[in-house]
Amino acid sequence: MSPESPFFTHEVENQAPPLGDYDAWGTDTVLREGVAREGGGWAEAHLAAFGVVAGGELMRQGYVANENKPKLRAFDRYGHRLDEVEFHPAYHRVMQLGMQYGVHAFAWRNEDKPGAHVARAALSYMHAQAEAGTGCPLTMTHSAVPTLRHGTALAQRWLPKINSYDYDPRVMPMAEKTGCTIGMGMTEKQGGSDVRANSTRAVRQADGSYRIVGHKWFFSAPMCDAWLVLAYTSSDGGGAGLGCFLMPKVLDDGSRNAIRIQRLKDKLGDWSNASSEVEFHDARAEIVGQEGRGVATILQMVALTRLDCMIGSSALMRQALVQALHHARHRKAFGKRLAEHALMKNVLADLALDSEACTALTLRVARAVDASPRDAGEAAFARLATAIGKYWICKRCPPFINEAQECLGGAGYVEESNLPRLYRQAPLNSIWEGSGNIQCIDVLRALNKEPETREAFFAELLAAKGAHADLDREIGWLSSAFDDVTTLELRSRMIVERMALALQASVLLRAGVPGAELFATTRLGGEHGLNYGTLPADAPFDAMMARAAVAA
Ligand SMILES: Cc1cc2nc3c(=O)[nH]c(=O)nc-3n(C[C@H](O)[C@H](O)[C@H](O)COP(=O)(O)OP(=O)(O)OC[C@H]3O[C@@H](n4cnc5c(N)ncnc54)[C@H](O)[C@@H]3O)c2cc1C
Repeated sequence: MSPESPFFTHEVENQAPPLGDYDAWGTDTVLREGVAREGGGWAEAHLAAFGVVAGGELMRQGYVANENKPKLRAFDRYGHRLDEVEFHPAYHRVMQLGMQYGVHAFAWRNEDKPGAHVARAALSYMHAQAEAGTGCPLTMTHSAVPTLRHGTALAQRWLPKINSYDYDPRVMPMAEKTGCTIGMGMTEKQGGSDVRANSTRAVRQADGSYRIVGHKWFFSAPMCDAWLVLAYTSSDGGGAGLGCFLMPKVLDDGSRNAIRIQRLKDKLGDWSNASSEVEFHDARAEIVGQEGRGVATILQMVALTRLDCMIGSSALMRQALVQALHHARHRKAFGKRLAEHALMKNVLADLALDSEACTALTLRVARAVDASPRDAGEAAFARLATAIGKYWICKRCPPFINEAQECLGGAGYVEESNLPRLYRQAPLNSIWEGSGNIQCIDVLRALNKEPETREAFFAELLAAKGAHADLDREIGWLSSAFDDVTTLELRSRMIVERMALALQASVLLRAGVPGAELFATTRLGGEHGLNYGTLPADAPFDAMMARAAVAA
């Protein structure tokens, strides 16, 4: 086309080249070091293979899956109930790739190898960077396993399908499927944090199964094959308390269970994931564990989904950082690249430092979860550190992504950059699976009811004693922070925040990573502002950025 043509555009200059496909494992030094440190290094070949997929096809399909939201098909054209959710093929492809690599099942299929949960955390971390919405059914499927094991017969029937690497979205009885996914229904209109407010009822039948009547106000993943659901039992006439039930979508005879999808939620973000409102009209279910023990039973699932919230938020932060660094290393302003400007260096290095601290703590907690069956101290640490990390890391995520977004200037506010999607997703992990206050109260509950958690927490900090004066001082402050029990709940956000920062510092210092001292000085020693970009002038800015960047 000639330059005189009215359709001739000017030459486009000073834009970052597309990041394009990249290797989400091979280019992530922090992730690779962390996985090796916490005992998942034996899975390197598998993680490396998935890294190429996650930074490539998964990333591309993730865009499409979010541009094409799922649609509720409540009825067919003749008025028959369908209660189906229609997904774009890109969604199915993302699910298929996630399951093929075991984001939902790698830890259970490799349970005999120490570090399997760490390796699986890395899979989930890479998956969530590419597409976070599918993380919801994948994490629930992974997390349902310890709860399902409360019912021996149920576990024998369902676990082979749950641990399958096949994605099988067909609506048919579990026995005929090659792979199954699991969801969770706890939250009702009148109460989410306080599940004792549930009104859904379960009535025991002569054959030992239950019929369930009620509703769930948030029921993500209504396309799953079964859900773990809380409902009150009253078979003894007196109401035996909350029970945990497994409710299949399709019954053994091929008929649909009586689960009505009322509508899909119109959400801020998490667009690829079809969160719904449902009603149960005498839906058939089987009890998992004992009547009256429902909360304790399902909390085993929730312990794992909370770890996955830490993984998910760390992943969103990592992906935002990748995008910000890439842009700033190419875009020029005032005669040099953005990443060469002093103040931008401070922002990017500070983001890199926080991203590493969140990823490192997440992988440390994944190791504790992994070791829990073999090591009581690690089990106690996992119990407490999951609540601490869930609170802190999920809270860091939204401001972090906003800051990364700002590094791209106006482009960061435009969908094509990926930052708006990350920004919309960012608050979710701090809301579901127990919101911020609930995590802080859970920390106090654990400390009060399970004193061994306190010992495990301080043992973890003391392992780094002497490594940094600010951490030593912080350990002293934390040692007396719990003394005044009358004001403990009021102060618990402050205490849990400082517990989290001390844990992060301890992990980084013992790992000897380049930013460890800087983290302790700035996060514990007070040499830092409330915003990112407030590192002291002698920080190793270039080294921090180079460590985090995916390419030169
Ligand atoms: C997109 C999305 C998908 C979801 N998917 C599912 C799902 O699949 N299954 C499911 O069961 N649930 C799901 N949820 C529900 C989610 O777990 C709940 O929204 C969450 O647990 C909070 O419950 P709530 O909304 O009833 O808020 P509330 O319980 O009313 O809490 C509101 C606020 O009050 C605070 N609060 C509550 N109690 C206290 C207290 N004692 N002290 C101080 N503060 C307190 C909470 O921290 C919160 O900030 C989903 C939510 C979202 C947004």
